[in-house]
Amino acid sequence: AMYGCWGMPPTINNVETLACAPLIITKGAEWFSDLGAKTHPGPVLYGVSGHVNRPGVYEYPTGMLISDLIYDVCKGMRGGKKLKAVVPGGSSTPVLRADQIEGVCMDSDSLRGAGSMLGTGGMLVMDEDTDMVKWLRRVSHFYHHESCGQCTPCREGTGWLENLVGKIDDGNGNLRDLDILMDLCSQMEGRTVCALADAAAWPVRYTLDRFRSEFEAKCKPSAVSAGDLQLA
Ligand code: SF4
Repeated sequence: AMYGCWGMPPTINNVETLACAPLIITKGAEWFSDLGAKTHPGPVLYGVSGHVNRPGVYEYPTGMLISDLIYDVCKGMRGGKKLKAVVPGGSSTPVLRADQIEGVCMDSDSLRGAGSMLGTGGMLVMDEDTDMVKWLRRVSHFYHHESCGQCTPCREGTGWLENLVGKIDDGNGNLRDLDILMDLCSQMEGRTVCALADAAAWPVRYTLDRFRSEFEAKCKPSAVSAGDLQLA
């Protein structure tokens, strides 16, 4: 927000960025540039949550292998389960399947090449038992709740996303609903005042794209169409 208490801008800068400033001033830009990935140097606070043995916030340079973060820093998967999916940088960043993280590092270029992004560095790790439709339902509920309602694509779109994903999760969806979900994402992305609509659309687009069989398994051809859906 650019207008807050006493009419002043409450957002000055990211605390993580500000914390680097004294070190850059005392140790120099060259020292800072040597930390982590060449094209994206510096430290990151990796906030790892989910099905790992030791979730937490860890400070390391950019460019760490995702697998090192999970298996070394966070001491591996909880209960010895298999890794299923990783959301590298907060819930809006595109989810990666376990087979997509091999050799991928936590920096902008590497993650872009893998089809995701670093975002906030808030990594979510999911094991083999995770129901990706239920996960997406929870995420879609969050973004629907967070929408301020100013922009029509976001105000209406986040509600449709939550309701359609919920309908599929409840076993009442059909295959056409999957196409409608993708179309909804296209109607929201890049068409609003702030980035929340994109943040709501991307988890839907990429979870559906990368775990489509799980959505299809919950759909039944004879179920009611999306046109019958009542928005809450
Ligand atoms: S995109 Fe941002 S400004 Fe627009 S309705 Fe959504 S939250 Fe509000």
